[in-house]
Amino acid sequence: MLDGLSFNLNMSGAEEPQPELVETSQEPRPEIENVIIIGSGPAGWSAAIYTARANLRPLLITGNELGGQIATTTEVENFPGFEQIQGPELVERMQRQAERFGTEVLIDLVTEIDVNGPPFTVRTAAGKEFKTKGIIAATGATARRMGVPGEERLTGRGVSYCATCDGFFFRNKDVVVVGGGDSALQEALFLTKFAARVRIVHRRDQLRGGAVLQRRARENPKVEFVWNTVVESVNGQDKVESLSVRNVQTGETSELKTDGVFVYIGHLPNNALFIDKLAMDEEGYLITDKLMRTSVPGIFAAGEIQDHRFKQAATSAGQGVAAAMEVEKYLADLEDRTYPGREETYKEVELAA
Ligand code: NAP
Repeated sequence: MLDGLSFNLNMSGAEEPQPELVETSQEPRPEIENVIIIGSGPAGWSAAIYTARANLRPLLITGNELGGQIATTTEVENFPGFEQIQGPELVERMQRQAERFGTEVLIDLVTEIDVNGPPFTVRTAAGKEFKTKGIIAATGATARRMGVPGEERLTGRGVSYCATCDGFFFRNKDVVVVGGGDSALQEALFLTKFAARVRIVHRRDQLRGGAVLQRRARENPKVEFVWNTVVESVNGQDKVESLSVRNVQTGETSELKTDGVFVYIGHLPNNALFIDKLAMDEEGYLITDKLMRTSVPGIFAAGEIQDHRFKQAATSAGQGVAAAMEVEKYLADLEDRTYPGREETYKEVELAA
C-alpha cells in the first residue's frame, strides 16, 4: 500500500496455488498513472484484479468505507463459488487477490476529480494529487435515510443502517426494521440472533425481497410484520424509545415502543464527485454504455454508481471486470497520442523512462 502502510501479501495458510507476486510498492509510481480505481467494493476490487493482471499497475483509492456495502453485510449466500461467506471476508479475499497481482492500495478519500483530460486529475482528502490516463468510478451507493424527525439526531443512539455493526448492542431488546426488500429481510433475520423481538415495518402488504428470505422471515418466531405502515418520527431523549407510525390505508397513527430502528429502504448513488462532470440519469446514477464508458472518454464506471437494477455483489464484480477490460483497450489506443506538454507520444515517453 502507499503511504508507508504495510504491503501485506499474506502468503500463509492459503490452500490454493499461489500466483506469481508483483510487489509494486518498491517501484516508484509513474508520473501519470494508467488507471485510478475509485472505490473498494466488489466492482473496484474486480477492476483492480483485472487491470493488475494486465500489468497496468492500477492505483485503487478505497474511500472511507473499505469494502463498501458488502463489508457491512452478514452472510452472503449467492456469490458464485461461495455457498456461504461473511461479507467482510469476501472483501478481504478480493483485496488480497488484487494486491497479490500488483494493485497499489491507498486508504484515502477522493475529494475531487478534474475530468478535463486525459490526463485527468484526482485529489484526495489527505492532500494527494494524481494525474491519470484512465479512471474507473466504483463509488457505489449508500443507504437511503427515512428523512423523518429524530432520525438524524438519534443515529448511533438506536437508529442504525448496519445490523452487522450494531446488532450486538440489542441483545434481548426490541428492534424495528424498516423496509420490505432483501436487505430488510436479511438483516432482520440476522438481528433475531440478538434481539428478543424484531418487527418489520413495511409500507405495503407485500414484500419485495426474494422467496427464500421471505419464507425464512415468516417462519422465524421472533419476526413480526407491521404492514402498510410508514414511520413518521423517531422519538427519544438520548436514545430511541419509540417510533410514531401511520397506517397508510386507514390513516391511523400509533406509537411503537422499541429500543432500536434499523433502516433498509434502498440506496442512493455516491455521485458527489461526478455532479456536473459526468452524465447522470434522473435518479443520479452515472450513465454508462455497454462498454462501461461514461460521458467522458477515458472515464469508466462499474457497480452501483451506475446500476440501480441488479445491485448484486456478483453483478458489480462483473461490471468491474468489463470496465477493466475496456480501460485496457482505451489505454492501448492512447499510446500513440501526444503526451501532455511534450512532443512525443505516451508510448515514446514511457519507453524512455
Ligand atoms: P430495495 O430492493 O430497493 O428495497 C427497498 C425497500 O424499502 C422496498 O421494500 C421499498 O418499498 C422500501 N422503501 C423504499 N423507500 C421507502 C421509504 N421512503 N419509506 C419506506 N419504505 C421505503 O433495496 P434493498 O433491500 O436494499 O436491496 C437492494 C438490492 O440488493 C436489491 O437488488 C436486492 O435484491 C439486493 N440484495 C440482495 C440480497 C440477497 O440476495 N441476499 C441481500 C441484500 C440486498 P416497496 O417495496 O414498497 O418499494
